[in-house]
Order: sequence, then C-alpha cells, then structure tokens
Amino acid sequence: MASLDQIVALAKRRGFVFQSSEVYGGLNGCWDFGPMGVLMLNNLKNAWWEAMVSREDIEGLDAAILMHPRVWEASGHVAHFSDPMIDNRQSKMRYRADTLIEEYIERLRKKGKTDQAERIEQQLAQAETPEDYYAIIVQEQIPDPVSGSTDWTPVRHFNLMFKTYIGPVEDDSSIVYLRPETAQGIYVNFKNVLDTTRQKIPFGIAQIGKAFRNEINTKHFLYRVREFEQMEMQYFVKPGTEMEWFEYWKEQRYQWFLSLGMPESLLRITPHQKLAHYAAAAVDIEFHFPFGWGEIEGIHSRTDYDLRRHQEYSGKKFEYVDTVTRERYIPYVVETSAGATRSFMAFLCAAYDEDEVPSSEGKLEKRVVLRLHPRLAPIKAAVFPLVKKEGMPEVAQSLYRQLKRRFKVFYDESGAIGKRYRRQDEIGTPFCITIDGQTLDDQTVTIRDRDTTQQERIALDAVESFLAAKLEQNIVTQ
Ligand code: ATP
Repeated sequence: MASLDQIVALAKRRGFVFQSSEVYGGLNGCWDFGPMGVLMLNNLKNAWWEAMVSREDIEGLDAAILMHPRVWEASGHVAHFSDPMIDNRQSKMRYRADTLIEEYIERLRKKGKTDQAERIEQQLAQAETPEDYYAIIVQEQIPDPVSGSTDWTPVRHFNLMFKTYIGPVEDDSSIVYLRPETAQGIYVNFKNVLDTTRQKIPFGIAQIGKAFRNEINTKHFLYRVREFEQMEMQYFVKPGTEMEWFEYWKEQRYQWFLSLGMPESLLRITPHQKLAHYAAAAVDIEFHFPFGWGEIEGIHSRTDYDLRRHQEYSGKKFEYVDTVTRERYIPYVVETSAGATRSFMAFLCAAYDEDEVPSSEGKLEKRVVLRLHPRLAPIKAAVFPLVKKEGMPEVAQSLYRQLKRRFKVFYDESGAIGKRYRRQDEIGTPFCITIDGQTLDDQTVTIRDRDTTQQERIALDAVESFLAAKLEQNIVTQ
C-alpha cells in the first residue's frame, strides 16, 4: 500500500481534498472536498443511502445540526463525552493521556523492551479515571515527546463538544452544541417517524450528516478530524431480538464495503474490548490504513438506553404498542454508525496503486492509478477523439453529449492520447472511449479498461448501454 503522504499528495494534485483555509495557513482538523472529492464523496453517500433507504423497513431523515441542549444531557454527552487530557508545564503541550501512554508503549516495543511495554499496556487496559492515567504517567516517568520533560499537570477531562450560542444573548442559557453525532436527531424523532409512516417494529431510520468533535489530536489526514460526516442508521427492534439483528447488521455492513470493491484482506471485524456504558454488544469494522488498522464503522447494540433517557428527560412517551398483541415496550436499538469521510479515505487508500504500462512507443511507463469501484469513481468515462481533425472531434462530442445526460463524463482532446489516459487513471475513471479513424468507417469505438489497460472495440451506439451495465451493478445489500 502507498504511504499516507502519497495519498494526500494525489488528493491535492487532482482536486480530491484540500486543506481548509489553506491560503491562511490551514485550519487544523478541517478539510475541503474539491471537484473530484465531492463527486466521489457524494457517490459514496448515495451508495449508502440507496442500500439503506431503498429497503421497505428503513426511512430517511435529515435533522438539524443544532438541537435542544437537553438532548446532550439526556444522551450522556455533557457528562461523559470527554477525553482525559494532560499538559506539560515546560513545553506547554497538551496530550490525550491515553494516547501519550500508548505512544510510549509503542516506543518501548521498538526498543525491544517488550516486558515493560506489556506491563504498562495491562495497566492502561484497567485505567478508567483521570487519576489512573496520571498514576501510570508519573510512575513510568513518561517524558513529553517534544521536550523530554516529566513536569506534568494532573489529568483532566476535556469535553469534545463544540459550544456556541443561539440567539443574541451570549450567556449560559443560550448555549447550544454542534452535534457530535447524528444519532440523537434520529432518537428524538422516533415517534414523529413512527406516527407519520406505516412502519412497524422492526424498522430503521437512516441519516447522513455533519458531526463535530473538538478532537485534541487530529491526525492521519481525514481519519481524525474536527468536522466530518457520518452515515448512521438506528434500527428499532423488539427487546429480546436484538442479538439476531446485531448479527444481521454486522454482516450486511461488512458486505456493503466488499460490494464497493474493498478487498477482504484490508477489512476485519473487531469486538470492542471495553463496552460503552449504554452498549450490550459492539464491534468495529476496521480498515487497514497505511498507519495500521482503524475503525471505519461501529455496529452497536444499545438496548433501550437512548429512548429511555429521552423519555425521562423530555417527559414524553417513547413507547411502541404492538398492534396485534397490544404489548407495550420501549424498543431496543441496533446502530450502524459509519464515518462517510473516514470511509472515503479508506476507499481512496484501497484504490491507490502504482504500476507500469506500455506507452505509445512500446516502452514501459510508470503510472498512478486509482482502482475505484465504478460506483465511486468521480468520472465514469472519458471521451477522446484520437486526433483533433478528420471529423473525429465532432463524433466524439456528439457521443459525449449523449452520455452526459446520464453519467458524469469528461471530454478531452488536448495532448497525446497516452497522457490523456494517464490523467484519467489518476482520478480513477474506469473507462476511456476513443474515436479513431476506424470509427468513421465502421461506427465502432475503442473502450479502454482502466485496470487492465486492454482495449475492446464496440459499436458506437452500444456505448451507453455498456456503461449502464457496468455502473449500475447491484450493490444494494438486502
Ligand atoms: P474513535 O474511537 O476513532 O474516536 P468513535 O468510536 O468515537 O471513534 P463513533 O462515535 O462510534 O466513533 O463514530 C462512528 C464513526 O464516525 C466512526 O466509525 C468513524 O468512522 C467516524 N468518526 C468518529 N470520529 C471521527 C473523527 N474525529 N473524524 C472522522 N471520522 C470520525
């Protein structure tokens, strides 16, 4: 796999991802999606949306980012959504205490001090309170990676929610938060959706939207950022059936990544070591990033924790009444929670490849190629006239106009044909269609496959149906 630097460089060079506010030196933990990036991100979100909302048992939702502050008290975010932080008095640097310890363990391992590394790792697995983390850091004399100093402040909790004020008055009564997850918008609308659709349990509500977390250590490109996008689905089930649905959704979500071309060797499912206070069971779908394994989606069995808390805090009923048995209960929830932007990065990493292909002079030439699934590729096909004369541009433009009504396609007549192929390879365009001398004689064109670079000749009037068949391959996971 390529290094992260190569992927970041390609993303910038070809208009996938730019650093936010780059001209002002950038804003840490925020990124902008450029012309190619936004096409690919939308393709990814649409693929998810279709897999979810085309099902009869799932409804869509788009809740506001700003919500009543009581939502975040009920959800537990005001009390619990925090990281343990520690400051070094000498360097004035602030670290997440658990990350500081983890990175120290990593350094010990590299130096071959396995016993010490394992001992600290065991202590870390037991650590829960700020005092536990502080005790490890002091006892092991863990130095600040920047200054080497061991002059640490106590460990304190730092809430990750961004705060702002709603309305003209800036005081405690007007505080609102930028949502740190989209799920709560779904829970508080549970009754609204139930009352306005014909759904019966089990059913789900799906939502795609921005989430914000004031992460202390943003890192690894789009992996840990402060503004990102989530694709979340909450599935409401009868208590007692949750494990069945948990297994079902785990499999569905894993298969979804495979159906979009993610190689099995880069995916794994890992059960959580420590369960969150609301969770009965939880697994992560992890991707093998250039820096190691990292979560791209969590599947959580959340019991009735969320609905019960909102019932308690709002004073409104969150019960479901079974129309046949007249049973009343608060549904249990199985959640699938994926990062859209983090998955985008995973698909980009999985697709990046370098190989050698024969140039027009027959020599081998190095190329960068994004082997994206056609559903995700920003541009589906490029149309080229071989040369800018002999009527070829006219035929090519007419084909381009025909295709662009249905697909995102690109017309290019500038430069050598080999260069034009290379430019499309770098942005992952699956097919390049060339109009050449023979087209004018027999109405056929060549279609070049990005991955094999093989060309086949097909009838000009068969191009549209050829592309449709390739692009509309069924990825719905039902
Ligand atoms: P992590 O342990 O990596 O912080 P988490 O367990 O807090 O993640 P969840 O709250 O379960 O993550 O969020 C669901 C998904 O949202 C994650 O699988 C990830 O894809 C995405 N996500 C969470 N935090 C971030 C972030 N800071 N930047 C980008 N994506 C994120």
